Amino acid sequence: MNLVFFGPPGSGKGTQAKLLKNKFNIPHISLGDMLRDEVRAESEIGKRAGEIMNAGKLVPDELTIELTRERLKKPDCQQGFILDGFPRSLLQAEALEQILNDLQMKLDKVVYFQVDEDEVVGRLSGRRSCKKCGAVYHIKFNQPRVAGRCDNDGEMLCQRPDDAEAAIRTRFEVYARQTLPVLEGYRQANLLATVAAQGEIDDVFARVLAAINDGGHQA
Ligand SMILES: [Zn+2]
Repeated sequence: MNLVFFGPPGSGKGTQAKLLKNKFNIPHISLGDMLRDEVRAESEIGKRAGEIMNAGKLVPDELTIELTRERLKKPDCQQGFILDGFPRSLLQAEALEQILNDLQMKLDKVVYFQVDEDEVVGRLSGRRSCKKCGAVYHIKFNQPRVAGRCDNDGEMLCQRPDDAEAAIRTRFEVYARQTLPVLEGYRQANLLATVAAQGEIDDVFARVLAAINDGGHQA
């Protein structure tokens, strides 16, 4: 099952991808995670990407395309994959088609997670994380035992620069401008399934399963 997960920042698609990955034992390929790994490793790609991401902007195409191509070549993608955060523009969508052609693969479904912008801004701007161990908290929904401190190591928690409200709104704007035409293309190709992403994680997951089974695709 070869899938693309689509959705604005904070749509919960990453959480859903992890659930699906565990259910079907196929890799969850998150472009954001791959980029953050590069940033943490302070690689050449990571240094370039870090500055751009902190400004709430999108990383250049040649970089994301290369990362995706190398990842899809790995043997664990043979039984399927969930691509998350790529493609985000028409150019990337074309590049993906080329990559899949080269690898003799094709997409089965593109799942679009639909959300309300204001709800997402409220949720994301409350996130705090630990620089030391990577643990993530929320000032309302997932508080640490001691305010402002990591449960694991007592480190001071901070807000990822791209979780600041202005950065989130910028990401929504960029997202809408660049990705809506891509969605339209997938709609015309009959690959698009829209899922209402609000509500309990399990309920959303049930909708995801229904969406990807629609059309008779086998797991
Ligand atoms: Zn920590």
